[in-house]
Amino acid sequence: MLEAYRRWAYLYSKDLQGELRSDKSFVYAPSPNLTKEALLKLGFPADMKFSQDGTRVLGAPIGNDSFKAQFASNKVDAILKDLDVLALMPSFQAQHLIATKSIAHRINHLLRNIPGGEIDLLGDLAFRYDNALLLVPNRICHQISFQALPRLLCSLPQAHGGLGYRTWASTCDSAFLAAYTHIAHTFPSLFPQYKDRYPQAQFITAGTSPVPRQAYFASRALARLRSVSPTAAETIVTPPPSLRELQHNITSNTDSARALLATALCHDIDAPDHPRHAAMYYSNCGDPHTFSSIPIDADTTFTNPDFATIMARRLLIQITPNTREKRRCSCCKITSDTRLEVKKKPISYPALDLYGDHQVLCMTKMKGLRASRWHDPVVRMIHRISKAANIPSSYEPSSYMILSNQRPDVVIHSDPLNGQAIVMDCRTNDPTLAGDCIKCAQTPGAANDEGTRQKNSKWLSATTAQRDTFLPFCIEVGGRISTTSLDFLRNLSFATSNTPSDRAAFLTWALQRIHCTSQRGVAQMIHACPSIRADNHELPFGGLVPLGLPPPPPAFRRPVPCHPPAQPPAWPLAAALALPDPQIPQALPPSPPLSPAFHFPILPAHTYPPPVDPTPDQPFTDPPWSVGPSPTQVDNTIPVMADLPQEPIPALPTRASSHIGATRQNQDQLYFSGPPLGLPPEPGGAVYLHDLP
Ligand SMILES: [Zn+2]
Repeated sequence: MLEAYRRWAYLYSKDLQGELRSDKSFVYAPSPNLTKEALLKLGFPADMKFSQDGTRVLGAPIGNDSFKAQFASNKVDAILKDLDVLALMPSFQAQHLIATKSIAHRINHLLRNIPGGEIDLLGDLAFRYDNALLLVPNRICHQISFQALPRLLCSLPQAHGGLGYRTWASTCDSAFLAAYTHIAHTFPSLFPQYKDRYPQAQFITAGTSPVPRQAYFASRALARLRSVSPTAAETIVTPPPSLRELQHNITSNTDSARALLATALCHDIDAPDHPRHAAMYYSNCGDPHTFSSIPIDADTTFTNPDFATIMARRLLIQITPNTREKRRCSCCKITSDTRLEVKKKPISYPALDLYGDHQVLCMTKMKGLRASRWHDPVVRMIHRISKAANIPSSYEPSSYMILSNQRPDVVIHSDPLNGQAIVMDCRTNDPTLAGDCIKCAQTPGAANDEGTRQKNSKWLSATTAQRDTFLPFCIEVGGRISTTSLDFLRNLSFATSNTPSDRAAFLTWALQRIHCTSQRGVAQMIHACPSIRADNHELPFGGLVPLGLPPPPPAFRRPVPCHPPAQPPAWPLAAALALPDPQIPQALPPSPPLSPAFHFPILPAHTYPPPVDPTPDQPFTDPPWSVGPSPTQVDNTIPVMADLPQEPIPALPTRASSHIGATRQNQDQLYFSGPPLGLPPEPGGAVYLHDLP
């Protein structure tokens, strides 16, 4: 090793013209016999750092188990600090996005290098990390902790009805197995003499010996993954060249199995005659875009109450905070002890539930409220998406149907030359309705299928008769869109660009907006009809009052320089007579007499005693001293208005010929800076005083 170090130092100096500093170098000697004294005897520099536990190479811990555990603990502490800072963000949506898309991925590289699934080594650390990460949805949903089903839904990807929080428990085994499998396939080609150090994990059995330590941990990770998904070993038989793709394949395989586990948990919780959790979970699986939409505009931005309600319904947890007291719907006054009815027969499920299902149904009964909050915004969004794809469309055109009085929601003029169009009518469906819930809990998309059937029976014959195509756009309360509607959006993307990447970007853009619009409408329906306690003294709790944005800081104003008043231009007499006076009315009221207050007080002049001539017989005496007026008071006696001569002042020749706007007005007198008409201008800008007539 020492020779290798010297060789490296030589090459570094020869080729890179540098100098290796031994005080910045590090010796990792895992053998217990290689103490620091032994290394010094071998010739290592004395100032070189030394460790027998481990070191860090390219961000990965290399060393014994305790060193790896301490390294992982330090890494987790750094991530938990970021999560603490994240809690200060005011927007729930921003907290969720940063946690799922940025912070949660920081643990991935570490989990590829340590056996994170080993409970004995890293169990406490994994528990601490997952609890800290799931504090974000806990905080948003106002929950202390999650039960098994919401916790599982948090870690599932959005395509499986989850939120996409990659927890330690859901990532560690697939990350470590993918990294080990990648090394097991690439290392023998690079170092054939060490090919026995990395046997493939699927071939390691209980009788295999000896087993390298990393291979042992990989085989245990594969065994745990097999317990979740029996087909997990098939993903590593022919691994792709990319480590990232291999890990994605393993994770996708196990996620599908964990989605089945989520369905089983839903059925365990559900009432047999009203399985709303399973029906709602299937509906949620059709929306993989709402919780990954970046809030860049009003379409994809949620308020905190809306986002909290949407996330709670996604996690199948209750929205109503109190469950023990009798509650009443604030709109229809139905109470929580009323049973839900199927074909007029009560079932075990309450009519006023804790998850917001009744509010959606109640808004349906309230005429127009469900349409204004949910249906109409979705229709307008479809119309906007069609416009964005450069396809002409009409929003709720009247008198379009020839054979009926029906008014379609949107008409897409797909072939205007031939006069053919796609007539669309949107339908919002609720899979938790009492009559359809069992069927929707068994077949994903059953509510959309029923809505499509009803729309076709209502519209198909009339649109076919006028050679148009009818397309029912069906969307469920959880976000699932019908297959025909998805095909329509996909066809719209073909009108935007010829490249697959641009078409995929447009389709994602369109789906994000439709899903966000639908989820926002559902949340606002629930907020419009809250359930309150049946006690008469209880008022509905509206939550925190949004204070809005703070006012902007005062704008800085540059001080206006004080310039001397502008002098009036010398108007010619003819022009002054021709122009009307826009400022001063033609007939002014007579001026009242001067107010007494206008006269400044005339201060008495101080008179000094006559000087006394000193005589030789009399001693010199000072004159009697008295406090006289200040020079300022004395000076004020000079320019007061009352001392001006009271001789008659010549009146203005004509009103129209006065010097307009060039003077300042003080009570009843006008000071003109120019001379009256007919008089020559005074040099030096003399002031003329005039009385108003
Ligand atoms: Zn109600």
